[in-house]
Amino acid sequence: MAIYTLPELPYDYAALEPVINPQIIELHHDKHHAAYVKGANDTLEQLEEARDKDQWGAINGLEKNLAFHLSGHILHSIYWNNMNSPKDGGGGEPLAADGVGDLADAITESFGSFAKFKAQLTKASATTQGSGWGVLAYEPISGRLIVEQVYDHQGNVGQGSVPILVFDAWEHAFYLQYKNQKVDFIEAMWQVVNWQDVGKRYHAAKASVPLISF
Ligand code: MN
Repeated sequence: MAIYTLPELPYDYAALEPVINPQIIELHHDKHHAAYVKGANDTLEQLEEARDKDQWGAINGLEKNLAFHLSGHILHSIYWNNMNSPKDGGGGEPLAADGVGDLADAITESFGSFAKFKAQLTKASATTQGSGWGVLAYEPISGRLIVEQVYDHQGNVGQGSVPILVFDAWEHAFYLQYKNQKVDFIEAMWQVVNWQDVGKRYHAAKASVPLISF
C-alpha cells in the first residue's frame, strides 16, 4: 500500500542551468528523492507488520527510518517548487509588486533586513557538517520566521515550525558540478529562488492555527 508518491518536477531537467546542471536534477529527483518516497512507504509497511506480529525488536530503527525518509520526501517536494529559472522570475528578492510584500516585511521584522537573513541562511546551509539543509521556517507560536540548520533531513528542528524555503546542502545536490565548493553552490542558489512559491507557503503557514497554546 503505497501512501507516498514521487511528485513530477515543475520544470524540465535543464531549467535551472547554469546554477544546477540537468544531470544533477535528474539524479537528484529520479533517484535520490524517489528513494526517500520508497523508504517512507517501506517503513510504514514494516511498522504495520510489527503491529500485526506484535514484534517490536526493531521499533527504534523503524521510527528513525520513518522520520528520515518522510522528512526527506517532504523537504525535496518543497525544494523543487522553491526554485525556478531566472528567465521565469527566479532570484532577486521578494517584492510587494509580486504579491509577496508581507513575506518581505516578515523577513525584515524577523532578521533585521533581507541582507542579514540572506547571510544567516547562506551560512547555516554552507556550514552543515556532513548531510543537512538550511531552512527558512515559520514558527507558529511567535509568528516569527527562523532559520534552521537541519541535520540529515529531520534533526535539529524546532517542533511545529513549517519549512517555507529549503536549501539542500547534501553533497548529492551539488558535487557533480561544484565539487567541494559548497559555499559557491549555496551562493548560486539565490539566483533560482522562486519567491512566489515561498510567499505562498508563508501565507499558508500563517493561516494555519497552531494546536499548541500555553
Ligand atoms: Mn537531496
